Amino acid sequence: PASPTDFAPATAPVLLTAMTAAAMTSPAMDPAEAGRESGRRNLSFAVIGAGMSGILSSIKLREHGYTDITIYEKADGLGGTWRANTYPGVACDVPSVLYSYSFAPNPEWSHRFAAGAEILDYLEGVATSNGVQESIRFGEEVVRCDFVDGRWHLETSLGAHGVVDVVIAATGVLHHPALPDIEGLASFGGRTAHTARWDPTVPIDDQRIGIIGTGSSAIQMVAAIADRVQALSLFQRTAQWVMPQENPAYTEEETRVFRDDPAVMTTLHEDISEMFANGFSNAVGDAESDGMRMIEAACVANLEDSVADVELRERLRPDYRAACKRLVVSPDFYSAIQHPNAELVTDSIQCVEPEGVRTVDGRLHELDVLVLATGFRVDRFMRPMEVVGPDDTRLSDLWARRPTAYMSIAVPGIPNFFMLNGPNGPIGNFSLIEVAELQFAFILQLVDRIRSGECSLVSATTRATETFEATRVEAAKKTVWATGCRSWYLDDRGVPAAWPWTFQRFREVMAEPNVDDFHLTG
Ligand code: NAP
Repeated sequence: PASPTDFAPATAPVLLTAMTAAAMTSPAMDPAEAGRESGRRNLSFAVIGAGMSGILSSIKLREHGYTDITIYEKADGLGGTWRANTYPGVACDVPSVLYSYSFAPNPEWSHRFAAGAEILDYLEGVATSNGVQESIRFGEEVVRCDFVDGRWHLETSLGAHGVVDVVIAATGVLHHPALPDIEGLASFGGRTAHTARWDPTVPIDDQRIGIIGTGSSAIQMVAAIADRVQALSLFQRTAQWVMPQENPAYTEEETRVFRDDPAVMTTLHEDISEMFANGFSNAVGDAESDGMRMIEAACVANLEDSVADVELRERLRPDYRAACKRLVVSPDFYSAIQHPNAELVTDSIQCVEPEGVRTVDGRLHELDVLVLATGFRVDRFMRPMEVVGPDDTRLSDLWARRPTAYMSIAVPGIPNFFMLNGPNGPIGNFSLIEVAELQFAFILQLVDRIRSGECSLVSATTRATETFEATRVEAAKKTVWATGCRSWYLDDRGVPAAWPWTFQRFREVMAEPNVDDFHLTG
């Protein structure tokens, strides 16, 4: 178990009586029924999660004339990733202009790459100005979704029930923290904290800090705290390639231009998006591409130029190809790890003891704080929520081996249920906001078919999903992610669980659903 929700006891199946359903809808008349009478259905929606994509869903649904929207958020605030990941140094290595909603450019970004707190402020600002908060039920986790008589019946952690026509799971990919299986971890006598559930009361200044992991979270934290601590031990199991990337502040003049002319920001958003799509996504999709070679050369040069000590440099040199693991971007990690307070520990961890971490060479690294920068269980998605479709089709069965989906948004046998940033989508070094916007535009077109009365149920066909998955797996073998390294991209078979084609192709397929790939029934 990795997150508080994973400890939740299995919820007993709920008998959803007609009385319960009636209690959740208008006493006068079910709005869906009223809409049906006029030939156009007033659909109701449950959005699960009030992070970046849940906020997006609510805004876009309203924009399209849907008004019956409830957002369920298990935390006590919105912002998802950016509310939970508040470790020192947290930032987004996707340019802030691109890591923004296309419809809400933000002239106030302070830097090219925004810090986590600034992104959270931005999301809160967008949610407030679009009236999203009023639809959110905070502190309420959806534990079950049962499809009964053509509608989704939800049960929450507070025991409440809701009935809706359509569910949008906006629950995130990098959400459930992964805890390392290290002997004695629970015996540590100091403070222990996972980066993805950061506790701001954890002391940093003048402390002896140990960080386990060398992913993006660890690298950002090392750079942020090396000169604040008494001693920093970075426990590296695998070295990382690091792409150098400066992060200058926007000047007052630039900010003024952004404020005066929002079109400048829109153009910049589009230009950076193209640059990412043409540069990065095309490169990683073909391990032998010129783009990949350029990325590799930049990472090698960064290591050679930044680390003076030959022995340290070699311990920091990965033995796999750059971008095989999710590329780490940092202007200052190498200088931080060379700080007199910092030590790179490459002897494997043997165990954790009350005083610190013992490595296999027998040395005890005494610590006050142990940081687990050990990543996420990326195959969980909206689980442990139980989703039961028609004919007792259970998501837990469908995903027992691994999660799959049609184009990462829909699961066969589970109608009127859509995911944002679901399994096998474009993850990697992209703007997940841009991904979610494209996916939601696609989902809206399907939902509009229900509203128009053309059908009442939409589900991806098994055939289309299997074809998509088989082609995806084949293409994934050519990507740089499959060139021989351990990473969270790889599924239980070692196949990259990601969109393996270009971002342009993703844009194209998201532009309009292929109706042949869906059952439109009812
Ligand atoms: P991660 O990339 O999965 O890294 C986890 C680290 O923990 C790895 O270095 C791993 O070692 C190590 N680890 C795990 N279990 C261990 C064990 N038992 N003993 C020793 N080491 C262990 O996690 P993350 O850094 O949180 O990043 C996850 C993803 O979040 C990123 O790849 C990125 O997509 C996203 N992220 C983005 C940003 C951003 O700026 N946009 C910032 C932070 C995170 P191995 O490498 O040997 O497996």
